[in-house]
Order: sequence, then structure tokens, then C-alpha cells
Amino acid sequence: QCVAVCPVGALHERDYTWDVVKALQDKSKKVIVQIAPAVRVAIGEEFGFAPGTNVEKKVATALRRLGFDGIFDTNWAADLTIMEEASEFKERIERHLGGDTSVPLPLLTSCCPAWVKFIEHNYPDMLDIPSTAKSPQQMFSAVAKNIWTKEMGISREDLVVVSIMPCLAKKYEAAREEFSVDSNRDTDISISTRELVHMIREANLDLQSLPESDFDKPYGDYTGAAVIFGRTGGVIEAATRTAYEWITGDTLKKVDFEDLRGYEGFRAATVKVGDLNVRIGIAHGLGEARKMLDKIRAGEEHFHAIEIMACKGGCVGGGGQPYHHGELSIIRKRAEGLNSIDTSMEIRKSHENPYIKALYEKHLDKPYSEKAHKLLHTHYYSREKV
Ligand code: SF4
Repeated sequence: QCVAVCPVGALHERDYTWDVVKALQDKSKKVIVQIAPAVRVAIGEEFGFAPGTNVEKKVATALRRLGFDGIFDTNWAADLTIMEEASEFKERIERHLGGDTSVPLPLLTSCCPAWVKFIEHNYPDMLDIPSTAKSPQQMFSAVAKNIWTKEMGISREDLVVVSIMPCLAKKYEAAREEFSVDSNRDTDISISTRELVHMIREANLDLQSLPESDFDKPYGDYTGAAVIFGRTGGVIEAATRTAYEWITGDTLKKVDFEDLRGYEGFRAATVKVGDLNVRIGIAHGLGEARKMLDKIRAGEEHFHAIEIMACKGGCVGGGGQPYHHGELSIIRKRAEGLNSIDTSMEIRKSHENPYIKALYEKHLDKPYSEKAHKLLHTHYYSREKV
């Protein structure tokens, strides 16, 4: 048992690598894996790469050698999350501007389970502001267990979904009751970046010498918008790229929203979306988040949308990553690594991901449809007295 402690104070780390090994040895099961955006720019540090180096293709090879049956990317599901979150934002803001003041604003992005739990405990009167869209981890797993199994002709009990996350709170998220069907979880096992490092070392593999390979299709391709989920401000920037085009009907000339970037713990920016001045707030670290929410609650600040990440710097600084000992320069290099991937991509807006479009056409009708709601949305609980 590892004794590391989550930096958000939520959890003691539990090591599930042995559960993954047992699943891989069970030949009656298919075992697939997804890796989160922030993992690819940090795991290399344990194998001699500089912080921020993107080693995703070497990790794909390592996962294949470890015996996984499908090597997929949580980034793909981050694009899917944006489809639902941007739709929800468009709907809420249009109804609000149309005079319906009962519509809750700001919309709060909901990818960070530590933050979701924090608001459930501490701000139960504000539970209507988080987007109901599931996190990318849970969207990926819901699609895998409910759609991919049918395409593969297997039952959900015969599929094991493993996630590799920069995060310890993701283990808790995977275990939340609403993400299971008859006790069969959507995400069966969530392990951290550090746990994957142990597995790679135990298998006597070295990322430096491994060749590169691609992720599998159809859940392995992503856009630049997806990969910036791993740094502070990235989820709201990705959502803004899509919401802008959907609200205005225009094509964005510049997809980089520089005003939403930076490392101040609590920052705000106004983004022009057609005739609208959309006010956006961003916080990372729970102390900063508390400040932001207290101001919103007191009516001292008004936002249309906010992003909160429990860890400093966002997931690049997550509690499951190689230790950075609070060194901001390491966190920044990882974030810059994600920005470089984003700028190198041909497609940088989630709604242009062809595999996402195909999923809607084949299975979900359109974003925010009834079918999409059933599969991709969730709800929150007051835990004030728990
Ligand atoms: Fe997990 Fe931290 Fe990322 Fe939140 S910000 S999802 S706690 S790694």
C-alpha cells in the first residue's frame, strides 16, 4: 500500500495495480484502457524525459505490451464532454438572455471529482450550477460499456475498463454509485500515473527505448481542444471554442483564448461571443475556489461560466502524477507541453472530431438529445450532513 496523500486532502492513495494485473491475466475478459490528457506530459519524467515531453505514443506501446486489448484515449471523451457542456451552456445562456431568470448561471465545468465532492459538502445550495455532463473518464467508460460492448458482441460484465489518471480523486469518482449498473461499474479500475510507472517498471519496459505506436480507433483520436483539459483554464477554453461557433454561427478566426490562460489562482476574463460579453471565472486550488464561490454567493461577482480545478495548475499538477513537490516550473512545463500538442493539431475544436460526429450520428442523434442525456449526464447530491 502506498502512503502518498492527495494534495486536495480528499483521499489516501490506494494502489490498484495488482487488480489491473489480475484482470489482464483473466482470459475470459477483454481489458481496455484510457489515458487522461495530463498523463502524457508527465510520465516521461520517471524515465528521463524532460517535464512536458509528450510520450503518448511510447505509452501506447507500453500498454500494448502489458497486454491490454484496446488502447484508447480519454482525450477522445474530452471532446465528447465539450459537445455536451457547450450545448448546456448555449441552452442556459440563451434561455437566461430570453428572460428566464430561473435558469442557473454561471455554468460550472464538472470534470474534477474532488471539486464536485467539495461543492456537494460545502455549497449544497449551489448544486444547480455544475454542468450535468459527466467527466471525460466517465463518458469514455459509459460509451465503452454501453455502446462498444454491443459493437464487439460482448456483455458489459466481460469488459474491464481501466483508466490511467493524474488524479487520486478519480478512484472515488469511478466508485460513485450512479456510475454503476447492477454493481457493474462503468470504470472498473482507476490507477494513477505513478501506478502505471510501477507497472511499466515491473514489466521491465523502458519508455526511452520503446518504439512509438498509435492509439486504437475509434476512441483514440482527439482534437487540440481535448488535450488542454489537463491544465488550468483548458476545459473552459475548449468549451468556449465550440460554444462561440454554435452561438454565433461564425467560424472562429483564432482559437487561442489567451485571456483565459495564466496561473493566478483566481482569475477572470470577458470573452466576446458575437454581441455577448461572456464573463468567465477560473480557479485552481480549493482555497481559491472557495473565494470565488463565496463572492458569487454574496452577489459580489457575476459570471456566465466558471472552471474550477482542485489541484494547482489543474490536472498536470494532480496528486497521482510523478511528484513535483509543488515546483511551479515543472507544472508549467507540463502545461506548456499540452499547449504545444494543441497548437500542433490540425483539428482544434471538439465539434470537428470526426469520430465524435460519427458517434452522434450512429447512436446519440445529436448533442444534448434525450439519448445523450441518458448516457452522458449525471446528477449531484447534497452531502452537507454526511
Ligand atoms: Fe483530479 Fe486534481 Fe485534475 Fe481535479 S484537478 S481532476 S483532483 S487531478
